[in-house]
Order: sequence, then C-alpha cells, then structure tokens
Amino acid sequence: MLDGLEGRPLPGAEALMVRPTPPTKGAADARGCFCDLWERSPALLERQDLPRGYCGRCSWCGKPGHTRHFPGAVGYTGAWCDWHYRVLSIVHPLGVPGVAVYAAVGVAAFFAWWALRH
Ligand SMILES: [Zn+2]
Ligand SMILES: [Zn+2]
Repeated sequence: MLDGLEGRPLPGAEALMVRPTPPTKGAADARGCFCDLWERSPALLERQDLPRGYCGRCSWCGKPGHTRHFPGAVGYTGAWCDWHYRVLSIVHPLGVPGVAVYAAVGVAAFFAWWALRH
C-alpha cells in the first residue's frame, strides 16, 4: 500500500467498518492462495478430492494444503500444507539467497575449469 495520509482511515474508524468480505476470502487473500475457488468454481477443487477450506494437496506429504506462490523471488506456484510451506519459507532452496549460492558455485566451477585448461 502506497497510500498517503489521505487514504488512511481515522484512528478507531477501522473498528466501526463492517467488512463485506466473508472470513474465508480474507484468509485466502492473506495466504495468497486459491481458496476463493470454493466460491467461484468448487467443482475444480472437489475433483481433486480436497476437503473444504483447502485448495491444494501438499507436494511433499500429500496432505490437504494450499496452492500458492513459492515463498521466494521465483515465479513458481505449487501446493504445500501449512507446515511444509513454513519449512520452505525458512529453507528457501530456490529463494533469493539460494539462487545466489548456486550462481556463485557455477561461477567458481567455471573458473576452476578455465584455470585447469590454461
Ligand atoms: Zn487455500
Ligand atoms: Zn506437507
């Protein structure tokens, strides 16, 4: 949000505002997942045998979870349960630090190869 002072509600006004969105929608937005598909096209999720309140199946353990963007700078979307998503966001194998490490290893390997040839 890049709102200046104008867009900001007065202190205390938030408590008075009635939120028009249902709680599931808010949770899906906070998670950045596709749970709002339950409202838009539930058949898509029912076909995957998913219980309500979940929008994906964890690619690691097969438990019901949420389909969302990878917790890094990579444009990758997958499905993880809450636990594995948390693990992922900590480990970040393909996140920004991970990619930098891989790039450094690649450059080092190239120089090693180059040095051996000369
Ligand atoms: Zn979801
Ligand atoms: Zn999992």
